[in-house]
Amino acid sequence: MKYSPILFLFLFTSTFAQTDKELAASLITKNKIEGHIYFLASDAMKGRETGTNEGKITAEYLANQLRSYGTKKVPGANGFFQDVPLTKTTAATTRNIVINGGKETQIAPIEGGNYHYDGAAVYLNYGLEEDYAGQDVRGKLVYIKAGSETIRGAQQMFGLMEQKKELAKKNGAIGIVELAAINPEIWNFIDHSYSENRVGFPENDEKTETVDFNYYWVLDTDNAIANDLATKRSNFGKVTISGIEKQEFISRNVVAMVEGTDAKLKNEYIIYSGHYDHVGIGRPDATGDSIYNGARDNAVGITTVLSMAENLAKHPTKRSALFILFTAEEKGLLGSKYYVENPLIPLKQMVFCFNSDNAGYNDTSLVTIVGLGRTTAENDIKVAVSAYGLKAVDDPAPEQNLFDRSDNVHFAVKGIPAPTFSMGFTSFSGEVTKHYHQPSDEADSLDYDYLVKFFQSYVLSGRLIGNNPQTPFWVLGDTYEAAGRLLYGR
Ligand SMILES: [Zn+2]
Repeated sequence: MKYSPILFLFLFTSTFAQTDKELAASLITKNKIEGHIYFLASDAMKGRETGTNEGKITAEYLANQLRSYGTKKVPGANGFFQDVPLTKTTAATTRNIVINGGKETQIAPIEGGNYHYDGAAVYLNYGLEEDYAGQDVRGKLVYIKAGSETIRGAQQMFGLMEQKKELAKKNGAIGIVELAAINPEIWNFIDHSYSENRVGFPENDEKTETVDFNYYWVLDTDNAIANDLATKRSNFGKVTISGIEKQEFISRNVVAMVEGTDAKLKNEYIIYSGHYDHVGIGRPDATGDSIYNGARDNAVGITTVLSMAENLAKHPTKRSALFILFTAEEKGLLGSKYYVENPLIPLKQMVFCFNSDNAGYNDTSLVTIVGLGRTTAENDIKVAVSAYGLKAVDDPAPEQNLFDRSDNVHFAVKGIPAPTFSMGFTSFSGEVTKHYHQPSDEADSLDYDYLVKFFQSYVLSGRLIGNNPQTPFWVLGDTYEAAGRLLYGR
């Protein structure tokens, strides 16, 4: 055959990996990603809290980006949205508990709604199994100390609560007032988190357990209240919790799809997901800034998904793609929970969920994929990340349980292989946690040269997985392998 420079060029550029690498890089520019992140993390968006107008504007922005790329509406969706019914519960405006004549106001209502009680109460030391022996607590309030003889830290005290609650309920008590001997600084943190509005699923919904028990923490730094109670045989208690209001509202997941090009593989979908909400406006930091911008968490993650959507709308892979931008992750992974319970396309067709979520980063030579080694897509991801000069590493802080702390976990529980793609971090401390859920998580403090490579890595990873003849799955022995076998009938 005669040498043809045109044919040579064609052969050279059409090798598989080369093409995918070029396609993955082709639409991502520094200006474009800055455009997304600076807008989404701007002060005008007030931290994108679920249930706020800025949360709605964020969803509109994302839907219209997806529209502009030419992605398709998902059948059964409300345009580019999936409506998610939620309930906002405001914090109590009045909180006081009278314990043997002393009125306590440092109260964290851990569980329960508006409530008034005036009656008998029993003091039960730590409220453990042995403390109930010979005691009649039926229909009464129970006073106990937080923790146990050996458990003192606030976090460990919280760990015992479920067990103590079950014991109290089993014995017929109507509620627990737990006296917490913790330092005021930690108390401030706890008090703050129970003074905020809470968002959950509407009641009478099987996803929410209805509250039929009251659980309060009362600050008792020096054990004065507990010591006083221990000397009295019978006690009385008066609880007044009021001003809690519930309001139902509709929030939205943003959804879109791109059909695959292969007649058979297009029935398999890769989900590209990330949450778009953040924590809103809160306590000011030392500089007086009270807007929690959420640039890393998770304007970066949604830009990751947008980059993928723009790419696949122009250059689809063999497998189909479903893009989901979740609401209410920061309220307890609610948008993703709602999606897996109300999927728009059967979950068994979802062969992979490639989530992106970020706390912070401390190493711009890396991409950290939480769950990298847990699925057979590991190699595709490693190859893709190294194509842009970065290195793919797995979760460096398994003790933080990060795999189970983002939206991906709901898909994993259903059996869908679901790692989370994050900016490079080598520990969950220092520079990484410095901006985590802080007003300083701003668009200005990001490295955009790194982010270009980061987004390209994600897009190429998705392209390789979407075109790989082998369907991804859990590695043998993974916690979620059995769920996967059940889902896919493997
Ligand atoms: Zn996040």
